[in-house]
Amino acid sequence: MDRAILLKKAKEYLLPDKVNLIQQAYDFALKAHEGQVRDSGEPYMEHSIATAMLLLDLQLDASSIAAALLHDVPEDCHVPIKEVEEKFGSEVSKLVDGVTKLSKVNLDSLGSEGLQGRSVDEKEIHADNLRKMLVAIAEDVRVLLIKLSDRLHNVKTLKILPEQRRRRIAQETIEIYAPLAHRLGMWEVKWQLEDGAFRALEPQRYREISTLLTATRSEREAFVTEVSQILKNELKKVNIEAEVTGRAKHIYSVYQKIEKYAAMGKQFDDINDLLALRVLVNSKGDCYAALGIVHSMWHPIAGEFNDFIASPKDNQYTSLHTTVLYKGTIPLEIQIRTHEMHHINEYGIAAHWRYKEGEKRDNTTFSDKMTWLRQLMEWHKEISGSQEFLESVRTDILKDQVFVYTPRGEIKDLPQGATPLDFAYIIHTNLGNRCIGAKVNGRLVPLSRELASGETVEILVSKLDKAPSRDWLNPNLGYIKTSHALRKVRQWFKKQERNENIDKGRQLLEKELRRLGLPLGDPADMAASLKYDSLDDFWASLGYGEVTPQQVIHKLISEEEERKPQQEIPPPQREVIGQVQVLGVGDLLTHLALCCHPLPGDDIIGYVTRTRGVTVHRKDCRNIINEDEKDRLIDVKWSASEQMYQVGVSVEAYDRVGLLSDISSVVAGEKVNINTIKAEERKDRTMTIFLRIQIKNIDQLSRVLAKIDGVRGVITVSRSQDGSAVLHR
Ligand code: MN
Repeated sequence: MDRAILLKKAKEYLLPDKVNLIQQAYDFALKAHEGQVRDSGEPYMEHSIATAMLLLDLQLDASSIAAALLHDVPEDCHVPIKEVEEKFGSEVSKLVDGVTKLSKVNLDSLGSEGLQGRSVDEKEIHADNLRKMLVAIAEDVRVLLIKLSDRLHNVKTLKILPEQRRRRIAQETIEIYAPLAHRLGMWEVKWQLEDGAFRALEPQRYREISTLLTATRSEREAFVTEVSQILKNELKKVNIEAEVTGRAKHIYSVYQKIEKYAAMGKQFDDINDLLALRVLVNSKGDCYAALGIVHSMWHPIAGEFNDFIASPKDNQYTSLHTTVLYKGTIPLEIQIRTHEMHHINEYGIAAHWRYKEGEKRDNTTFSDKMTWLRQLMEWHKEISGSQEFLESVRTDILKDQVFVYTPRGEIKDLPQGATPLDFAYIIHTNLGNRCIGAKVNGRLVPLSRELASGETVEILVSKLDKAPSRDWLNPNLGYIKTSHALRKVRQWFKKQERNENIDKGRQLLEKELRRLGLPLGDPADMAASLKYDSLDDFWASLGYGEVTPQQVIHKLISEEEERKPQQEIPPPQREVIGQVQVLGVGDLLTHLALCCHPLPGDDIIGYVTRTRGVTVHRKDCRNIINEDEKDRLIDVKWSASEQMYQVGVSVEAYDRVGLLSDISSVVAGEKVNINTIKAEERKDRTMTIFLRIQIKNIDQLSRVLAKIDGVRGVITVSRSQDGSAVLHR
């Protein structure tokens, strides 16, 4: 029976193969839920069907309908998501998985008093949960549509639940899900959610208002007929075809209006407050023409007119709203819009997902996603009420985080650029220390691969006692991006034999110096200039990564530079590339002021900001002249054009297909230009490759060499003092 109705609805707008998918999902879900009953005693499948029905009404695509039918299968029937994927494909399984994950996000930490008066910790937990929810939604909007439909059926069947659970679900619905539906412009869903929840929270009030609405129904209907007849006739005179309807407001909104009146000390007694008149016309022009007619017939109330056509609401709602005095005394709310606007207004975001034959729409585009996030941020604003809280959420979200899932579906957030190793150390130090590999979405990936939002990360560990690799400490290799993981790896090495750390430390520095073609120098001097008490301490801290060879070299070079400022650092040919830069003080961040836009050659001065480093202004900038805190001003000067240096690099490697392109792509990955690249084969199947590259400084060179060293087949790589000597050509 249910099955027949469902399929009939699907056939109305879907192609046979799509209907088939829904049919299979139905049969699968029915079998999986077999024997399960809800608290009401109904078969569980009733819930799955109801969830799908609403989405059929919205005419969503077949994948969404199938996912709605299957949405409780993984959680309640312990069917692995893999099986869903095998049977129904990845699109459906992703949706089901998304709904499952969304349901696990705990949003009920919000009490009836909202966030006010909550502790900082509770606010943080709440913000965190909301953020997790945003991620799940941002992945695919349809996940939320299914969730809303699921919730709608749950709200309608709240009655049978025990008091406490009923209140919790109702509260969460009013605070989270109804505002979300509102954000999405899904009015129908929104008011049904609100009315259902309101009924559970305030059964008495609910009954009172619904009695009021029923009692006044015939009166209201007579009123609507009267007014719409007058209006239609007037519109006909100017050739506007219109459909006029009167819709009773829903119960929760009447309740809100009563509350609002009470707060203003007014009595709510006018039945006209219970309805709004809606006028549907054929074109935008007709909307404004109809508005003119309405205003000429009845006097508009000042301040009650809104043009949501010229400036639509954030959720794309478009309509004209006005309130007029009917017969000089009765306030009457009138909405005017086209049929098309009405359609979009009612369905909201779901309208964009409505299935259209021949259109492929399995992916939201990037700009869709951004619109989403913006809307969701707005939604945050509505439910939070606390400016401070909002700010914290906003900065958290804008902090460029990635959100990834553990194999169990928990969400972890990491800074952008984080790797599987960072992820492992966040979960447990031991997991990081024993990590030997990682799978992302089921595929093996290098440990240095950057993670992206929405990915599921699984860490592979050694069964034997495995130790971290010293390579992880080398920032050039990009294994670790978080200070947390770095600290843990260092700690591990620090606990090892001191002698081993001393040996390793020495080797690391010597290797890097050789590679960069720099003189070895006196290690005791280095240790002293880096403020180490003894040479052994210096080697040891290099060994466990407290200081890296790159940092040591950087320090040595900048000291060198200070001593003989006119000498170039990496000598050979020097090429000037016409970029202009402002020299700040030391490593302070500088940027150009937007008020006076200084250009090279202008007289400039720096202003030390509290958080954003130094802003560079023209000396005659008004903001500078009027600045009270003169001690914040600081001298700056234009630097010479940025200098680029040409450096030769030679690589020895085992010959293989693709070697040259792999090397050039890692170099390009560091945004370094290659001027020449030459290769020479040898008899023993090895190759010597010579590159001439343009670099900015020794740090960049060090990174490039480390990356080349990591290319498969490469035996050694080093800076070559004289490139031409390497190849005999
Ligand atoms: Mn459900």
